[in-house]
Amino acid sequence: MARLTIKGISKSFGATYAVRDVSLDVEDGELVCLLGPSGSGKSTLLRMIGGFERPTAGSILIDAKDVTSLPPEKRPTGMVFQSHALWTHMDVFNNIAFGLKLRRLPKAEIKERVEQALALVGLADYGRRITTQLSGGQQQRVALARSLVLEPKILLLDEPFASLDQHLRERLREEVRDIQQRLGITTLFVTHGQDEALALADRIVVLRDGYTEQIAPPDRIYREP
Ligand code: ADP
Ligand code: ADP
Repeated sequence: MARLTIKGISKSFGATYAVRDVSLDVEDGELVCLLGPSGSGKSTLLRMIGGFERPTAGSILIDAKDVTSLPPEKRPTGMVFQSHALWTHMDVFNNIAFGLKLRRLPKAEIKERVEQALALVGLADYGRRITTQLSGGQQQRVALARSLVLEPKILLLDEPFASLDQHLRERLREEVRDIQQRLGITTLFVTHGQDEALALADRIVVLRDGYTEQIAPPDRIYREP
């Protein structure tokens, strides 16, 4: 759990302003959706929070600590991308264990934490499976477990279910909401689907051309008639 403070961040790529002067406070344990059409700056904003892009201006604080110039691995954030990029030469267990092994944790602890993470995403018996044999939804669950096992303070999800069919997307959305509430983890979820944001979010940030057009809880979001 952590509090996130974004102060006037902007990002330009040459002449293109992807994000313009966005400020936002996210409370401990809150789930905020970043909503907007393609090209509105959602992904760039999320990537700046995760440390994958450097803001052109402004700052990012996590629990009052300025992380603006820290690389992703030095931030207490975990990111899940639209395309999961699981390692195909490792089984599910080792995909999830990878980051813990880098941290040289004891084997028994790694095993325990990976098993907990697998159970959390509903894949308790899948540790020895080859990732290419999993369905798209299962692969995204593994990607989520791989991120959660490192116990990030803030979870960043970039359209994690966009490539799945609607039925599965709705189910995984509910699962994420459930996991998020159980862990009480501060979460930012990027989506271009208004229904998805309305179903998931404590608060919605509507982006347009890099600006924040609205910041409000779902029941107070103005919807185009
Ligand atoms: P969204 O996630 O809402 O689709 P993005 O954050 O991906 O929006 O993109 C916002 C704007 O920034 C778009 O105009 C996009 O073309 C531009 N952009 C994003 N990343 C880059 C990049 N690496 N180089 C140049 N332009 C980029
Ligand atoms: P993070 O934990 O930082 O979000 P990942 O665990 O997704 O990153 O991946 C760690 C790094 O390895 C990333 O740079 C990612 O692009 C890369 N990577 C992930 N999967 C593969 C793959 N199958 N082949 C090559 N590189 C990969």
